[in-house]
This record gives sequence, C-alpha cells and structure tokens, in this order.
Amino acid sequence: MADLMSYDDRDGFIWFNGELIAWRDAKLHMLSHGLHYASAVFEGERAYGGEVFELTKHTERLVDGAQTLDFEIPYSVAEIDEACRQTVKANNLSDCYVRPIAWRGSEMMGVSAQATKINLSIAAWDWGSYFPMEERLKGIKLAWATYRRPDPATAPARTKAAGLYMICTIEKHRAEKAGYAEALMLDWRGHVAECTSGNIFFTKGTELHSPTPDCFLDGITRQTVMELARKRGYTCIDRTIMPEELKDFDECFMVGTAAEVTPIKSVGDIEFQPGVVCETLLNDYMATVQPGKAAAE
Ligand code: PMP
Repeated sequence: MADLMSYDDRDGFIWFNGELIAWRDAKLHMLSHGLHYASAVFEGERAYGGEVFELTKHTERLVDGAQTLDFEIPYSVAEIDEACRQTVKANNLSDCYVRPIAWRGSEMMGVSAQATKINLSIAAWDWGSYFPMEERLKGIKLAWATYRRPDPATAPARTKAAGLYMICTIEKHRAEKAGYAEALMLDWRGHVAECTSGNIFFTKGTELHSPTPDCFLDGITRQTVMELARKRGYTCIDRTIMPEELKDFDECFMVGTAAEVTPIKSVGDIEFQPGVVCETLLNDYMATVQPGKAAAE
C-alpha cells in the first residue's frame, strides 16, 4: 500500500462547482447527503490525445442519471462538456481518465433532501490500460458474482448512480481475492447480465451475442463496438443469455470506457479461446478512439 499515490494528495486542478481549484482543496464535508444516502451520480470517460471520446454522450447520461435520482445538475450539457475539456487541459493531460460526479450537499441530512445544493466536480488523471496489456491479450479470468443486477423496479438500474456500485465493489473484491480479474453478474431473473465495470459479448463464428441491456447500462463502448462489428459484416444479436449457454460460445470479451475491449479466457470453469473476432474489434476500437495514432502507425 505504501507506494499508492492517494487520489486526494496530488498536484493539479479539479473543476469544482464552476471553477478550477487546487487538487488538494477539492473537499466535501462528512455531512454530505451524497455520502450518506448515495444521492450521487458519476461518469467515467477517457480522453485520447486530449479529446474525450463521446464526451456529449457521457454528459447526457450524467444529466439523465441525475434526473432519475430526482435532482437537476445546475449546468447545461454544453457547459459540462466544456468543463471536462478545461479539466483535461488544465492538468496538461493527453491520454487520461475523466471523472465527473454530481451529488447532494450538506444543507439537509435525512432521507428528504429536497433543498440540498447540487454539486458537480470533475477530475482527470493519467490512466493507462485498465488491465495490463499483456494480460489483456491473453484474456482475463472472470469469476461468477453472487450478487445480481437488480430489477429496474427496485433501483435506477440504467444510470451510473453511485449506489449501484456497492455490489460491484463487493464482487470485484471477492473475485480478486480468489485470483480472478473480474466478476460476471447475473440479473435478478438469473440471466447473464454484465461485469462489475463493463458489458459482455460472446461470439459464435462472426455472430456477436450480448445480453439485452434492460436492467443495466447499455454502455457507450458497447454501442460503439456493435457499430464497428456491423461495419465488419458481423451480426449483432441482443438477447436473453442463460449461464448454461456459455459453453457453446467461441469467444468472450468485455467492453467499457475503462476496459476498452478486453478478451476473456474463462468464466468460472468455462473456457474461451480469445481469437480473431475479439482481436479485430479491439484493434478497430483502438483505431476509432485514437484516430491520429492509427493514421501515424
Ligand atoms: N456497466 C457498468 C456497471 C459500468 O460501470 C460500465 C462503465 N461505465 C459499463 C457497463 C460500460 O459503460 P461505458 O461503455 O459507457 O463506459
């Protein structure tokens, strides 16, 4: 733990309620509604060569998520987009992760929090591959999660609400402690759903099969990868996938802003052979998010 550079003790600038302030000064009080009641919604974005990929889609999802949590972020989509760009620039970053978060403040402490101030802050930091590149190409090992993605009738399931990540952290830890890189969650009906931080695809030949995103995020990366797959002439099928079917697929990979496209070599004791379909889509995805780089190579 000694060599961990804590996220609250760094040089740089954080955009905080309309201004860029010193990184270490971006603090909130322990009596913040967002901390106690998870009245918070966030985004995870990546910039490549200084440009945030699909910035407006991320910002729109943030604003929509806040509305689902019954609050209004006091900035427009265009203002938030600009604030994200400013944050990347102020920190002199090129390839980085961008983390906006909106939360209810300290003015009221209780389940009712109608008069709380809505805060928005944006941080950005250098961030390489979510999984080490070497490990990524070999494929990562997934454990089966115990918790399930909730019924949309019981939680704002299709947002990036902070509270939804409580079970993701528990499952990611459980997986890591058992020697896996990630965990695959079922949904409340027992259908295959998604990983703790990304969507999942399976392949049969050049058919891509992916769980219908009706109780979890239809990720921006998922949508991008499906577009790229169609351009390659692959067929994309959204459907209910049962855990017993996994043994019948050829390849498997997870996708997300952080994970990009990451081949999977096993889920529990079911093995996959990372092959030409995930490699093609990984390369197509990287060429799409970093077009300058692809052209230069
Ligand atoms: N599901 C979960 C639980 C996630 O955290 C993410 C990452 N935001 C995704 C799916 C994929 O979303 P995106 O591709 O938009 O990053």
